[in-house]
Amino acid sequence: MKVRVAHLYPDYLNIYADRGNIAVFERRAALRGHSLEVTAVAPGDQLKAATFDLVYVGGGQDREQALVAPDLERRGGDLRAAVENGTAVLAVCGGYQLLGRGYRGRDGSWLPGAGLFPLETVAGEQRLIGDVLLKVTLDGTTTTVAGFENHAGRTLLDPNAVPFGRVLAGHGNDGSTGFEGCRVAGAIGTYLHGPLLPRNPVLADWLLSWALEHAGGDAVLEQLGDELEHQAHAVSASRARSRGGR
Ligand code: GLN
Repeated sequence: MKVRVAHLYPDYLNIYADRGNIAVFERRAALRGHSLEVTAVAPGDQLKAATFDLVYVGGGQDREQALVAPDLERRGGDLRAAVENGTAVLAVCGGYQLLGRGYRGRDGSWLPGAGLFPLETVAGEQRLIGDVLLKVTLDGTTTTVAGFENHAGRTLLDPNAVPFGRVLAGHGNDGSTGFEGCRVAGAIGTYLHGPLLPRNPVLADWLLSWALEHAGGDAVLEQLGDELEHQAHAVSASRARSRGGR
């Protein structure tokens, strides 16, 4: 199968090698005989999100977020309809914040968002930085997800929102609720950089199988050995644990 990926704002939102997540999708798809067709989307570009199987957006500084926020707000309806229609989404940190209703920066300015995730973000004084370990349940499978966070934003989930995971070590959405990220159907938002997917093969395959299903293919993926991936996960997880919880 050919998996169609829309990579939003790669020239603006791409810190901590976030674009490495695309390379992981490419590699894991290829190991199962599938291919990726990646379309870079810049502000103002035409995009019908529902024609894509996966939408990806990385993280970025407040300045870059301010440059893309109005464009992302305009795409809100299109992105929400695509997710309702089965398109998968992975949004990291600054991209995650702007897929909520918006982000209030430290200077008080409001950056409008796409309103895909039921949440808002407000920048705090102190940045929340360090290794993170989460407990995550995806379609009945409980696993851990490991990564790195660096954000001023405190993300407040609406009461009916579904968090992506529970914080075992690190700060997460706001450093106090113990929740991290948000999930709506096949759309995952998270603060975890790294890049995230090389050390989290279970999550990478979950998103890939969701995208393959949308592409009309078989969502069941042949298991890979993933020795290196599991080692990277273990190292990242032990670094997070050594922080001794939140
Ligand atoms: N600029 C946002 C914040 O500081 C997001 C940072 C990021 O993407 N790492 O919270």
